[in-house]
Amino acid sequence: MDQEITFEELGLAPEILDAVKAAGYETPSPIQAKAIPALLQGKNLLGTAQTGTGKTAAFALPLLSRIEFNTRETSLLVLTPTRELSIQVAEAIQQYAMKLPKVHVVPVYGGQDISVQFKALKRSANVIVATPGRLIDHLKRGSISLDKVQAVVLDEADEMLDMGFMEDVETILSEIPENAQRALFSATMPKEVLEIIDEHLGEYSEARIEGKTTTVENIRQRFLLVKSHDKMEALARVIEGEDFDGMLIFVRTKQATSEVSERLEARGFNVAPLSGDLAQTLRERTINRLKMGKLDIVVATDVAARGIDVDRITHVVNYDIPYDTESYVHRIGRTGRAGRSGNAILFITPRERRLLKTIEKATRQPIEAMGLPSAEQISAKRIANFQKKIQDKLTNADLTKFRETLMKMTVELGSDIEEVAAAALCLAQEREPLFPKMEALSTPKVRDHGDSGKGDFDTAEKPRKERKEGANGVEEGYLRYYLAVGRRDHVSPRDIVGAIAGEADISSAIIGRIKLFDKFSTVELPDNTDQSVLDILSEMTIRGNDAKFRLMTDDAPPPKDHGFKGKKKFSKEKKPWSKEKPFRESHGDKPFRKTRRFGRH
Ligand code: AMP
Repeated sequence: MDQEITFEELGLAPEILDAVKAAGYETPSPIQAKAIPALLQGKNLLGTAQTGTGKTAAFALPLLSRIEFNTRETSLLVLTPTRELSIQVAEAIQQYAMKLPKVHVVPVYGGQDISVQFKALKRSANVIVATPGRLIDHLKRGSISLDKVQAVVLDEADEMLDMGFMEDVETILSEIPENAQRALFSATMPKEVLEIIDEHLGEYSEARIEGKTTTVENIRQRFLLVKSHDKMEALARVIEGEDFDGMLIFVRTKQATSEVSERLEARGFNVAPLSGDLAQTLRERTINRLKMGKLDIVVATDVAARGIDVDRITHVVNYDIPYDTESYVHRIGRTGRAGRSGNAILFITPRERRLLKTIEKATRQPIEAMGLPSAEQISAKRIANFQKKIQDKLTNADLTKFRETLMKMTVELGSDIEEVAAAALCLAQEREPLFPKMEALSTPKVRDHGDSGKGDFDTAEKPRKERKEGANGVEEGYLRYYLAVGRRDHVSPRDIVGAIAGEADISSAIIGRIKLFDKFSTVELPDNTDQSVLDILSEMTIRGNDAKFRLMTDDAPPPKDHGFKGKKKFSKEKKPWSKEKPFRESHGDKPFRKTRRFGRH
């Protein structure tokens, strides 16, 4: 956190600075501090950064500052690997452009009815955030033109190419004017990304965050995989489930400090916000109250918490993930002070999973998966706390009048003393029920992290090697589907994975084995795949060919007019075409060698 430059110093347009202020960002993240000046100067850029580092703003803020938008033209194009990311990035860009006069941002992705997109595009699309496959569709249909693009960004290039979008990306880049500014962001630099950089980035500047390695031995580090919209509920449960003295919760923005703090306060926690917005004296007072035990929880931004030294802090919760490992280490260093041991809990949303590995590498320590406490565990804690309070009253309070009242009530109600005491207990716990009903939160899957999750989160994902083959040669729990494209169409397993994952917005991890033949191919999908997903896939094209996706039946390959008819049983018999030698058994092996070069440079 030796990062001191301010947004004002970076040279952004005043409208963009206003939007940054409205978003509540205090200081540029490291990738922003490096990327913004270069992009503002019109340079091409290679950014080594992952989701969660603030990379969207790193390219969006300078490009929005620089580009002169015209009513009808598409001036900025961002390519993203998935539908989810294209929506997220489009929303962020729209937010950053809110003070600019009429900049329309349109996300364009597979899986959405194309006619809905036609309408949005017709109105005007100054910025398009697209997944490659669907963009190609639009280019073919003439509903998008890239002639006037002034800047193009490849976001999460490694993921995009890994999903089989190489050819599509190449085609798209060849449609972009030669003089357009180019930026490429990637967390890793595999061969294919390097190839794109080589062919398409021209002369470029680099923005990279160097991660230092540090050790934090006396701190127990855990992470909780949680969906964004469940974070608040999860936080409340974590706070109740942990035995802590003082707790520091890190969020990204000033607004979030008050928001999170208010919502925790409403749930009865003793909490206050701490942000750069507060006057120095108020900040000091808050820290002092935490020191003296008058306050248990402080919700802070990085800047506001800089240098906090309070021995009582037993827990640091990274409610919002930090931008880089350095600030992670700095944050968790607020606990485990004065030779004590500390606890660090990191909230990770599914998209941020890759940052976890980076942090583990930088701190040279594994971060354990944790689950949420169950309703029973929380109940037991609440009862124990309640009992402590009763114990305190038994020892310290004058109970004479209450005892007399209790006796009187017992007589008047004609009830046992236990019954009346139980009713009083029931009344006393109404605000904080001793037997809370808690809904299970949904269960994002985590890769690479075993099955250490307990409680409401199932953090384990079934490893590939455990998958068993059923009697018909199809993996157990899977069904085999037919695709009317094969080697002859220059289709690779990666193209198939990319098309399926991209079109249906499903994780590529659940796609089973792929077999490639000359004229067709097969892919295995879980037998509980949603009908809505199958419907989307039945419309899918792969490398411009109608894939004619359908469940494999006894009759090989289906007649041309045979639409998708839902699930049928797969025959045990060998298919007449199965003597063709499969090209590749699975898409899980090493990347495919790309043979075709492309580009106009
Ligand atoms: P990204 O890496 O683009 O996915 O951004 C991750 C999150 O960080 C988003 O929720 C952004 O709103 C937030 N963010 C980006 N830049 C900043 C900043 N300078 N200060 C605070 N939050 C930021």
